[in-house]
Amino acid sequence: MTGMRMGGWLSGAPGRNEESSLCRRPYLDREWKVLMEQLADRVKKLGLKRFQMAARQIAAGIQWLDPLMESYCALTCPSCEDFCCTGQNVFYNRADILYLIALNAALPPGQTRNTASSPCRYLGPRGCALPRVRRPYVCVWFLCEPQMLLFLKERASFQRKVVGVMQEIRASRLLIEAIYEKGYPDEPGSFLPPNTR
Ligand code: SF4
Ligand code: SF4
Repeated sequence: MTGMRMGGWLSGAPGRNEESSLCRRPYLDREWKVLMEQLADRVKKLGLKRFQMAARQIAAGIQWLDPLMESYCALTCPSCEDFCCTGQNVFYNRADILYLIALNAALPPGQTRNTASSPCRYLGPRGCALPRVRRPYVCVWFLCEPQMLLFLKERASFQRKVVGVMQEIRASRLLIEAIYEKGYPDEPGSFLPPNTR
């Protein structure tokens, strides 16, 4: 898959610039269940309300982007010969999960794959089975090369609007991460009980 990301335009936000890569790996479903319970419990202890405004902003941004992405997919995906959803490196990350917990959305029943070589479990015969607001965010903001060419043909004012919405989503995701990490700065050592590893 040759694709481009909007990363260059979206970087440079003040403060934290990267989302945690914790959770970005294959999980067995029983491990995943423990992870969901643990993160939901921690969010609850920190106060769900502290996360909710940012989560709603993320969801609103993704809903706004949805028709644009759908229209690009309708134009490019049917003739694609390098289907991006078959990539092996697509995972939910921690920010995705914290966002879904804060949104009170149905949590994904599993990581995108149980093993490194499995296909994405959400890929169905008609594409992704998940609504865009519940997909890993990497699946939302990715524009492959043909889609980037379509984007570059849009009006400059519309391009700025899209980039602005993505920047807002990114800032809200980093805020969620920051709230969580302030409450749980020691996460790498205590993330999962040893008997689930
Ligand atoms: S978004 Fe569609 S056209 Fe682009 S790489 Fe993925 S499947 Fe192919
Ligand atoms: S979650 Fe959906 S969009 Fe993302 S890789 Fe899997 S099938 Fe594709």
